[in-house]
Amino acid sequence: MNIKACPRCGSRNVILHAAGITGNYKCLDCGYIGPIIMESDERLRIKKSNSNVAK
Ligand SMILES: [Zn+2]
Repeated sequence: MNIKACPRCGSRNVILHAAGITGNYKCLDCGYIGPIIMESDERLRIKKSNSNVAK
């Protein structure tokens, strides 16, 4: 189960922006507009990829 959360304020009060045409989301709490982060799953993936890229 994917839970969408605002990367700026962490709020889960986010909706699809422009009816999903742009693929961006809008946070109703802080006004952030952009790609959304899936809670926990994405953060773990980012950490792993960072350690792999580092040489
Ligand atoms: Zn927000």
